[in-house]
Amino acid sequence: MSRRHVLWLAAIFLAGLPVLLMAQPIGPARNIILLGWDGAQRAHVKEAMARGELPYLSDLAREGTIVGIDILRTTDTKAGWTQILTGYLPEVSRVFSNSRYQSIPAGYTIFERLKDHFGPRNFATVAIFGKLGHMEADPGKPYYNMKKATDVFVNGLTYNDVVGATALGYLDQYRDTPFFFFIHFAEVDTKGHANGENSREYNSALISDDYWLGRIMQRLRLLGLYDQTLLYVTADHGFDEGETTHSDAPYVFLATNDRLVLRSGERADIAPTILYRFGLDLTKIFPPLNGSPLCFPAPKPKW
Ligand SMILES: [Zn+2]
Repeated sequence: MSRRHVLWLAAIFLAGLPVLLMAQPIGPARNIILLGWDGAQRAHVKEAMARGELPYLSDLAREGTIVGIDILRTTDTKAGWTQILTGYLPEVSRVFSNSRYQSIPAGYTIFERLKDHFGPRNFATVAIFGKLGHMEADPGKPYYNMKKATDVFVNGLTYNDVVGATALGYLDQYRDTPFFFFIHFAEVDTKGHANGENSREYNSALISDDYWLGRIMQRLRLLGLYDQTLLYVTADHGFDEGETTHSDAPYVFLATNDRLVLRSGERADIAPTILYRFGLDLTKIFPPLNGSPLCFPAPKPKW
């Protein structure tokens, strides 16, 4: 190759560099990570962002967006994560609340649909839970069927630092396989119940959630996977303002680096968004999903 050719190639590469740096999957994503901030109230998150206490959530939202998620049903853990991980309302998923539930029917969760779509060995599914209660996979419990479609299922890790460190380890392990991770952080919820939504402890737990979001983003960059990975951060329910309960706490959020997300929605819209971004044909899913991808204007209500 002549010197002139080399210079031309260098010029072409440099001209294309801004586009490369902006690169983000517009077609189907290689990897998706869903981060669960259990019990993170939208208003408190917004205030903490405004104070500059959640820098990584702000970075993520700057790259993509942050939208409101309004909850139409029970604001608790079992109902919340089930809707988020399936795209179904309780009449279909059979999980109505923390006390009224059955196992989610086989095949209904994101994990099962992705394993079915990509094949059992070509795609890694990892579920890491801070909680034990409400996150069990024994017969009759919500995640009994879902667990069979996960390569890793760990629950009861309690502390954010344990959840985060565990997640980093599995990111290293599965770096060479396309993957879906669900990483659930419990401390905001537990501190809220112990000390109240306006407590210093609740706020510190949010800062801890954000710290681990940052560590995960940093690890993805280190592994060369960040530009091929969509991240979504959401919550199962908010918190009653100033209280230690979340009996009527319907306002949460979804923050993401996904530039295609364009509207607010509800919990059941998150699974369809993820499945759509992995390239699945949602019209072939049965029973039809109750939610729909946040990448399109909201469909007209059927009633
Ligand atoms: Zn709770």
